[in-house]
Order: sequence, then structure tokens, then C-alpha cells
Amino acid sequence: MTARPGNAHQARLLRLLRDGGPHSRAQLGDLVDLSRSKLAVEVDRLLETGLVVADGLAASRGGRRSHNIRLAPGLRFLGVDIGATSIDVAVTNAELEVLGHLNHAMDVREGPVAVFEQVLSMVAKLKSLGLADGLDGAGIGVPGPVRFPEGVPVAPPIMPGWDGFPVREALSQDLGCPVMVDNDANLMALGEQHAGVARSVADFLYVKIGTGIGCGIVLGGAVHRGTTGSAGDIGHIQVEPDGRACGCGNRGCLEAHFSGSALARDAEDAARAGGSAELSTRLETLGKLSSADVAAAAATGDQVALDLIRAGGDRVGQVIAGLVNSFNPGMVVIGGGVTGLGHTLLASVRTQVYRRSLPLATRNLPIVLGELGSTAGVIGAARLISDHLFSPA
Ligand SMILES: [Zn+2]
Repeated sequence: MTARPGNAHQARLLRLLRDGGPHSRAQLGDLVDLSRSKLAVEVDRLLETGLVVADGLAASRGGRRSHNIRLAPGLRFLGVDIGATSIDVAVTNAELEVLGHLNHAMDVREGPVAVFEQVLSMVAKLKSLGLADGLDGAGIGVPGPVRFPEGVPVAPPIMPGWDGFPVREALSQDLGCPVMVDNDANLMALGEQHAGVARSVADFLYVKIGTGIGCGIVLGGAVHRGTTGSAGDIGHIQVEPDGRACGCGNRGCLEAHFSGSALARDAEDAARAGGSAELSTRLETLGKLSSADVAAAAATGDQVALDLIRAGGDRVGQVIAGLVNSFNPGMVVIGGGVTGLGHTLLASVRTQVYRRSLPLATRNLPIVLGELGSTAGVIGAARLISDHLFSPA
């Protein structure tokens, strides 16, 4: 895709077609504040660029029948979600529908060179399946703070070796298309906003609980990244004075006390202490435990596992309560690798937030699990790059 919209009207039309699918000219006219003749000019310009095509006859509203307008069916976006322990890569069409999605287990600490080699081989596989001839743009999510305009991770505690690596520049060269990079929690928030539980919610928090903890803050329909891109890094809010040592160098951070990796550590301690037969058996068999093992043990009614999840939900709930007081969101979405902990976790979070936040802030505040699971990040990544490309150059 070489063309970009020539002005804000064209950008608006492209986004309407992305989010709502094919429209007739009359329907587009109802949605944008343009005269018929001005609309016709902008649509014709977009048709000339090849970004949109005329496709199928629209329902008649009297008079001559016209063609529907839709985004070019050959447009392809790449969504890449690099997690602490796995990589998700997906190809979408222009409407951000996932055409193909691959997942590969990999430790982000292997470093950017090895991780991007893996990403490129997954892209090659998706291309060999005939899902994309070329790529028009790619969005990349990484599990750490990103200096947003340049697409560079900065001092990411759970991904040593990535500090200052020019992700945007390197991948844009390798993939041969424009690339945007963001923190993974921001992209998951965008994904849930585009196709998941937060559709049509303008102000919400997406709390991602994976190996670490992060938060996507959406205000007025847009991700709030702050001055340097580090907004929402809630995993390093202190919850315990002089608490456990954290990867960031401080003590008592939220994610040192509750996160996927903290939960696995606490479950292993409990298994060794002999408090839970279920966890002890799993540790003996597997050699180590993950948050998924805690979820499985909790599902059998194991009291130790349930207590660990409740205690974690209390901790993250206290932090969310503070955020709810600060931002007054219309929804709180919990997602990430630990959503397997499900309703036990959710119940503790809700209790803390409803108890600790101001009544005006919690009136009609839904606190829910994300709908999209592991596709939230890749859909959000595709949405990020399409927002960029569907803006005036
Ligand atoms: Zn920390």
C-alpha cells in the first residue's frame, strides 16, 4: 500500500469502512458531515488511489442504484504480539478480520534478534498458506514500556537485552512495510475496543495480567500513552512497603507480589511446604508450576490454589480501585494469560474495587474478563498500524 488518505475526510471514510464494512455512498453521506458533491469528490479520490473499490450494488433508496464502497480486498495487515513466553502472529484483511493466526512458545529473554527471526519465519509460513501476497503494514506489541513515536523499548524489566533496540526500524526493513510498535497492554485494549467486550466504550481500563502486569488506559476513545509512552505501567506501583524484590530494582511492586510468574512461584512454595496435595503432585510430575496449574488446581476445589488467586485478586483489585478513582472509566477489562483464573480472580477484584473506589465512580461500572483471549493483542496491533495508515500522510 503506497497510497495514504489525502485529507482528514478521506481518513475518516477509510476508518468507517474498516470498522463498519461496505457502505453505500448514501450511508457514508449520513455518517460524515459532507455535502453530496464533496463526498463524491472524496470517494472518487479514494477509488483512484486503489484504497477502496466499488463492490456489489447497494440497496436502492429510490433513483439510480449505486455500488457499495469497501476497502480494497487485497489489503493485508500483520499483527504481532510478543509476550514474555510466547509469540502470536496474525494476518488480517483491511476490516481487521483475522485470516490466519500462529502461536509459538518462546522466551522473550532470548533477545530481539532471535525473536524477530522467529517472527519472520511465522510470517513466511502465513504467506506460504496464501494468506498474504504482500503486507501493507504491521503492528508489533512488546511486554514492556515503549518510547512510542520511535518504537523503541526502554529499560523493560522482563525483557533484558531489548533496551533501546530499534524494533520499528529493524522490522520495517525486514518486512518491507510501515511498522508501529506499542506496549502489549495498550494493543490488547485496542483489540477489545475494536472487536471485543469494550466495543463502543470510550473510557475504559484494560488490565493485562500475564508474566507481568500492565494497563491500557483508553480515554475519549484513544489510548492514553502519557508524555513518554510509559502510562499504564501499573505493575510497578508499590503495594507492600519493603516487600519482595522486583525485576525493576525496587521492592514491593504489584507484579513482584501478584502476576503470572509471582503466582507460579508462590504455588511452588506452597507445593513444597506440603499444603496442597494437588499442587505437590503437579510439581512432582512437571518439575515446575505455572499460573495454568494454579487455575487447574483451583478448578478441582483445591483450597491453597483458591486462596492464592483470591490474595492476588485482592492486591490487583486495590491498585485498580486507585485507577478507578483517578480515571473514572466506564468499564474495567481483565485479560492476559491469567484469565484462566477466571471468576475467582474477578470476584476478588470486584470486591476490592467496589469497596475502595468512590461510589460515584463505581456506579454502573462493569468489571469483566476480556472476550478475545490471545487474539486481542494481534487485532489491536493490526488496528494500531491501520490507524496510522488511515491518517493523512
Ligand atoms: Zn517493579
